[in-house]
This record gives sequence, C-alpha cells and structure tokens, in this order.
Amino acid sequence: MYIKITKTKFDKKYIWHPYTSIIKPLKCYNILNAKGSILKLSNGINLIDGMSSWWSCIHGYNNVLLNKAINKQIKRISHIMFGGFKHIEAIKLCNNLINLTPKKLQYVFLADSGSVSIEVALKMSLQYWQAKGEFREKILTIKNGYHGDTFGAMSVCDPINSMHNIYRKYLPQHIFAEPPKCKFNEIWNENDINSFKFLLKKYSKKIACVILEPIIQGAGGMKIYNPMYLKKVSLLCKKYKILLILDEIATGFGRTGKLFAYEYAGIVPDILCLGKSLTGGYMTLAATITTKKIAYTISNSKSGCFMHGPTFMGNPVACSVANANIKIINKKKWIKKVQYIENYFKKKLIPLIKSNKILDIRILGAIGIIETINFIDINKIQNFLINKGVWIRPFKKLIYLTPPYIIKKRELSILINSVISIFGN
Ligand SMILES: *Cc1c(COP(=O)(O)O)cnc(C)c1O
Repeated sequence: MYIKITKTKFDKKYIWHPYTSIIKPLKCYNILNAKGSILKLSNGINLIDGMSSWWSCIHGYNNVLLNKAINKQIKRISHIMFGGFKHIEAIKLCNNLINLTPKKLQYVFLADSGSVSIEVALKMSLQYWQAKGEFREKILTIKNGYHGDTFGAMSVCDPINSMHNIYRKYLPQHIFAEPPKCKFNEIWNENDINSFKFLLKKYSKKIACVILEPIIQGAGGMKIYNPMYLKKVSLLCKKYKILLILDEIATGFGRTGKLFAYEYAGIVPDILCLGKSLTGGYMTLAATITTKKIAYTISNSKSGCFMHGPTFMGNPVACSVANANIKIINKKKWIKKVQYIENYFKKKLIPLIKSNKILDIRILGAIGIIETINFIDINKIQNFLINKGVWIRPFKKLIYLTPPYIIKKRELSILINSVISIFGN
C-alpha cells in the first residue's frame, strides 16, 4: 500500500541515516543538485561544501570529465560479473594504481567499499600465514583508529570510542598499542614507539599483521601524528617479518598534501587500501593492493586461491570514473590547490587557539581540524552554519574541514570565516 506522507516526513519516519536513531534522528536536508563546491538544497539555499562528502568528492560535484567518463561507460556496459570476465576499464585502473604506488605493490583486488577493502587486506594477511603453515590470528594496531564498520574492520577500530563497546562480545580480540603522542611537526620522541615495540615483540609469533592509518587518524579522533612513528612501525614490522597494512582510504589521492600519506615517512606497506576519493567520490569502489610475495604465497597454498569475491567487484562504471579521477590527479593541479588550502587554514585557524573554547588546532594539506573543549551540539552548529551558507558535519568535540580541492578562494574564505564565527569572532 502506498503510504500517504510528504517526502520529507517519509525520510524522517522510515529511513535510517548513518549512526542515527529512527525515533530521534539528526536533521537531514533535502539536496537537489550540486556543482563545483556548491550544494543546492530544495528550499533554495546554496551551501559551500566543507566536507567533500566525507573525503570523497575531491574534484567537487558535477565535474565535466568525471561525468563524461560515466556517461561513456554506461552506453557500453554498466555491470558485468568479474568472475569469468575482464574489461578494459578494470585493466586500465589496476595498471594506473600499480603505476601510482611503489614498485613493490603489484597485485590489485577491486572491492566495492572501503570497509570491504579492509576485510580483504585482513583476510590476505591471515591466508598468507596459513599458507606458510603458521596459525596467526592476532592483529596489532593503535588506539584511536578507524577502519570501517564491518566486523573485521570494527575489530581494529579504537576499542573504547568506537562501536567496539556494543559489539565487544562478537568481535575477535586484537592488540592495541598506545597511539603516538608526538604531533606531526614536533621533534620525535623515541618513547612514543615503546608501547608498539613492546607489544610487537611480546606477541610477534601470534601477530599476522599490523594495520594503521598513515599520518592522520580520521574518524577515530582526527589526530595528525609524527611520520617518524610510521617509519619506526615499518622498520619493526620488517624486523619481525610481520605484514604492514596501510589504510589510505581517507588520506589517498592528495588530501594530506602528498599523493599518499605514507610518502611523509618514506615507507612502503605490504598491503595498501584505497577507497573514498578513488572515484573522485562519484561511486563506491575500493582497491586492496599487495606484493608479489603475498599474492604468490596465498596462491601456492592448499586452497590455491584468495577467498573473496563481491558481486560488484570491478564494476565497469566505477572503474571508468576512477580512471578519470586518476587522469585529473596525474595533471598535478591538485598540489598547488591543496597547498593553498593548507596555507589558508594555517593563517586563519591557528590564531583561534587563543579561544578558551578551543583545545587544539591541527592542519595538514586540505584538512583543518578544530578540537573544542566541550562536546558540540551538532544540530545547533549545523543550523548556525547553514544560515551562513556553509556545510560541515562536526562530531563529538571535532569541527573539521576537508573541502574539495577545487574550492574557489572566495568560497574557502566564506567557509573559514563562518566556522571562525562559531567562536564569536
Ligand atoms: C571511510 C573509511 C573506511 C571505510 O570505508 P567505507 O567506504 O565507509 O566502508 C575505512 N578506513 C578509513 C580510514 C576511512 O576513512
């Protein structure tokens, strides 16, 4: 039976949004369309996008080149099972990814979302050790991490400030080291690695892999840490012959000012996960890239194959738009744009540290983070900013900005000034 109710009320009444209650949901705004960095709502309001739809839409919305790629591919074939078929867009994409990443990373698994690419990476590590005749079930990571919402991913998210609490009894128990205290620009303190080193040594025969978000921990607390920590982690993993997985789902494709955040530490992981902006935020697609050693060890095992295969693996439309994204990235215009955003964030946000409402300001690349002293009333702040024509989505004590790289100077200035005005300036 058709339910007679206005569309707005229907959404509020029947549809789940991320991390919300059905009874008392956070407010949702009706989006009509978007272009560049401007989001157009059905009530006539235009908003400057400060989020890139969660790190994804790095080239903004309605990008001509990305649109063209999708339209072209849809007329050829929009989907085909990846079991038993190959196609040019997936071939191009995997070749592109191999060319963009270090030589050691050569074998690509295309998944359908970031969380799934994490599951794939974890399963690859477990299967790798199984193939070598060793049963290793533990994963070492650090606190404050975020790697997605599926079970394997949840099991390596922060054990306190994530969904761990609710699902604790259903999750495998892994090992959590203290996160680095040393900030990005601070002088490295060798003590910072002690907890990680201790745990790695203690459980070295049980640990299959280490998983980390390089340089910036995203949804687990928006912390930017010292590249030396990552460097030390990589050296210790090598010493104990433990696999290193880097989750660049949020940081990949220029967000931190480098193409990939691991470049700050000059290291190469054994497995790399990419997602979010891989398609310029157009479609859901992720990739897990690994080494010959891992790919061959798994394939030479008793099972003879890697045990995973999502229905929408290697979707041709998603691959074609990912190729268009990489084409734009390879033109390298993003470097100056991200640099401009970083400099502007530094100029405008760092002085805010004087405010008695603010605990910390952190900036890297096109990421600006304000950590407040008290919890933020999300509905209130969002409403205040929407009246100023700006879109952001704070959480807990964090107001963070990750605008599209193509944001215009004037738009960036309105975005920042509006955010600053929250603190009464
Ligand atoms: C978003 C995110 C994920 C999960 O990706 P989904 O596409 O939401 O499943 C994993 N790791 C990091 C660092 C992320 O930011």
